[in-house]
Amino acid sequence: MAMSKTGSQRLFHVIIVGASIAGLTLAHCLSSTSIDFTVLEARSDSFSDGAGLAILPNGARILDQLGLYQDVLDQGQCMVSHSTWFEDGRLLRRVGARQIRSLGRTNYPVIIISRRVLLGIIYARLQRRTCVFFNRRVYRIVSSPQDVTVYSADGSSVSGDLVVGADGVYSTVRTQMWHHIKNVDDASTRSHRLSEVPLTDAFAGVFGISQSIPGLERGNVHRTYGHGWSTIIMTGADSKVFWFIAIARTGTGQSMPRRSSDKACLAGVVEPLLEKHVTFNVKFGEVFNHAESCILVPLEESFQTRWSWNRFVGIGDAVHKMTPNLAEGANCAMESAASLANHLSSFSRGSTSLYTQERLGSTLKIWEDSRKRRMKSLFFVSQCAVRIEATTSWVLRLLQKFLGLFHAMGIGLLTDITSRTARVDHLPLPLRKDAERVPRNKEQGPEWILQLSTFPLTATVSLIFYVLHAVGM
Ligand SMILES: Cc1cc2nc3c(=O)[nH]c(=O)nc-3n(C[C@H](O)[C@H](O)[C@H](O)COP(=O)(O)OP(=O)(O)OC[C@H]3O[C@@H](n4cnc5c(N)ncnc54)[C@H](O)[C@@H]3O)c2cc1C
Repeated sequence: MAMSKTGSQRLFHVIIVGASIAGLTLAHCLSSTSIDFTVLEARSDSFSDGAGLAILPNGARILDQLGLYQDVLDQGQCMVSHSTWFEDGRLLRRVGARQIRSLGRTNYPVIIISRRVLLGIIYARLQRRTCVFFNRRVYRIVSSPQDVTVYSADGSSVSGDLVVGADGVYSTVRTQMWHHIKNVDDASTRSHRLSEVPLTDAFAGVFGISQSIPGLERGNVHRTYGHGWSTIIMTGADSKVFWFIAIARTGTGQSMPRRSSDKACLAGVVEPLLEKHVTFNVKFGEVFNHAESCILVPLEESFQTRWSWNRFVGIGDAVHKMTPNLAEGANCAMESAASLANHLSSFSRGSTSLYTQERLGSTLKIWEDSRKRRMKSLFFVSQCAVRIEATTSWVLRLLQKFLGLFHAMGIGLLTDITSRTARVDHLPLPLRKDAERVPRNKEQGPEWILQLSTFPLTATVSLIFYVLHAVGM
């Protein structure tokens, strides 16, 4: 396969590795520019069931700009309430969706949707679908000052100006980038003292989809703080129950496999939790026994120090992988895709002679630095959230109760649209009926007002982090 273009007026060509949330969102964003792209995906073209996702205002706004939002709204289920429970069935706090200020302000509800349905919508509505190639597992990338060539396991290759790793937490593009950095640019890496950040997985995750369960009503989200574990249970359209359980690897005294989709094996893993409450009158055993599909995976966490180099760049889980507790992974993957598209769109204007590696490298560095600022704080909050929710420490148990007082404010702040929330710059912002006009003003307003308003949460989270360190978690 020879897909590279030549000629003095050729279009800038981006090779996207991975056709999931990040990769397909980037493809959509580039579709409305004069940038050429090719998407290479290892899977066949069917989208597996996976998990349920919560689409938050930051992701919803990008989907809206891309013309995908109405389909997501039609096929998903709006969140009605969010309840947090202790494992013995006591309620810590219930927050109605209307109490969450950011949702009213932006008029984007939290939408519960299966990952398969969301990916189906994003793919089906992509105009340049012929640029997406399935069954192309990328295994090698060769970069030069002139171009980059990406090789797939089926024997094909494609050349372009830039390769984007949207290939998830075990990113081949990231590995290949570091391979180049180490071999080609040894002196400069040594001077910057950077290397690939290893993945950590302090938690294992079991997630699944169950048939409707009495007591788990559509649109209700339930979160349980357990002793060494936590759950999130969301009931979507057709009363399908999307569930997820994070289990701390230390302290459970249990050795568990790293990955499995064998229900008998998973039954052994969750056996100690079957009698625990996920609401006042529903126990986890009921949810697990109704499972149509379930899987055990490591819950990796990593925030990469370097996201781009020469003709390589990473977005989504490839560079910022969080546990699902904040429900931000996919939403932030969309944000990273949109913001990268903004920078590439400006870069590719003008003549082909400007597509130099140096200019590209500095454009990507500017993008990376600006994007990292927002992602670092979300990553930090996500790290804290999973450790507090599944804690075995009495100090953090006290903090759980304290934080319970701020649930509505916390969810509101974390799901709000601010000046740092990415959007597609070259597409108009859709007018949301009944949305406050504040978002635009707030986006353009002085940053210190925003920082002042988020101070209580920042202070609380900093305190929590201090405690986490003190107790050695
Ligand atoms: C249980 C669970 C619940 C979650 N809930 C939420 C939620 O409510 N809200 C939210 O925002 N996020 C949620 N997330 C996180 C979210 O799913 C991820 O952050 C998101 O999918 C990241 O998207 P991505 O495109 O970066 O990577 P991925 O979705 O991992 O996609 C990577 C793609 O690259 C392909 N690929 C990999 N290697 C290669 C290769 N060598 N060559 C070609 N293709 C390759 C893969 O096949 C895949 O299609 C959840 C995650 C889990 C596990």
